[in-house]
Amino acid sequence: MSFFDHRLRYELTRKMLLHNRLTRRQIAEAFGLSMPAVTRHVRWLEDNDLVTLKRVRMPNVKRPVETLHLQGTRATGLTALLHADHIDCEIIAANGQPLKQIQQPLAERTQRGVADALRLAVREARTFGQQISQALDTVAIGIHGFMEPTNGMIFAIRGFPDWEPCLLGQVIDEMHGLAVVPTTSVACKLFGLSTRLREDDRIGFIEKSDGMLAIASLRAGSLELGRFGTASSAVHVRVSDSPRRCYCGKNGCLDEHLRVGDATDQMLLTALPHILKTLQVTTLGLDLEGVGDAAAEICRANGVPTIHLCPSDDELARQGLRIVCARTILQRLVDRTRPIVRREIVNPSAFRSESLDASRPHVNKSNTRKGKVYSTVWEES
Ligand SMILES: [Zn+2]
Repeated sequence: MSFFDHRLRYELTRKMLLHNRLTRRQIAEAFGLSMPAVTRHVRWLEDNDLVTLKRVRMPNVKRPVETLHLQGTRATGLTALLHADHIDCEIIAANGQPLKQIQQPLAERTQRGVADALRLAVREARTFGQQISQALDTVAIGIHGFMEPTNGMIFAIRGFPDWEPCLLGQVIDEMHGLAVVPTTSVACKLFGLSTRLREDDRIGFIEKSDGMLAIASLRAGSLELGRFGTASSAVHVRVSDSPRRCYCGKNGCLDEHLRVGDATDQMLLTALPHILKTLQVTTLGLDLEGVGDAAAEICRANGVPTIHLCPSDDELARQGLRIVCARTILQRLVDRTRPIVRREIVNPSAFRSESLDASRPHVNKSNTRKGKVYSTVWEES
């Protein structure tokens, strides 16, 4: 049993989330595994209630084929799509199946209003989870705004002018112990696209509204995001004669115009060929107020087909959020069944003197000076 086994099992469940079902042969081909290795991993996933096996009739195959399906049991997640006056919530199972919808109105358009509404939604999801004997594990929040993707720090949300940068998981008590994953609406919409697009292509998405421009790209199901949760490096391109200098060093940079708030549609269209070149996408989703047609024309001239997402934006974002949430639940389920690292105390007197200090954790790794603390003993679960 190794770390790589767990990594592989997580990737396997992730792939199942995209495809709904997989055969043993598909797994063997996708991961370059031998059939006995596939059997070993499948048995482990089955023993831990992460997948079920079904016999399915396939076209042009005589006998029924055994397929793997993700189990929805064991844990649930809450998805919360933030709008200006309400939060669209959904409780989902680990396989992404929606179980219940909750709509929480926002009493005020402030940080406190968001926190209060989320608090109520989390409570309701917990109660619902207890009723069906499943633990609430993850909260995925979709925002229209900017965030630090590595730690989930939310810098700004459109429609909330007084937003102070914060980590929602830390300011809302009810969320302690849960995995809290904020994600931007561009990322949600990309994940919400069809399985075929997510898997095979390198796709990008550009969204413009209220003078803000958000860009993201996805390759083989993985997001490529810039520093603020959008692929923002693509917008550093000269689009005007303005003497103002951007932090990237260019004068008249599109990013600087966006920051100041005087970017025009023409500037966006001027920058588009550069954006296409930087993202290197094969398909581009567009949600550009007013300039969608002109932008699509430029994309066509550059050999990039476009898709307009506007009519079903919210549904796409909701589906994407489900995927983000289900992935996190699955990762945690796989991690939880992973052998834990046990630290063995070799010198008992050192252990006693440490445990007298109530403020200190029982076994503190940084206190290895006092007694020998041996770590990393892997146990089979
Ligand atoms: Zn710049």
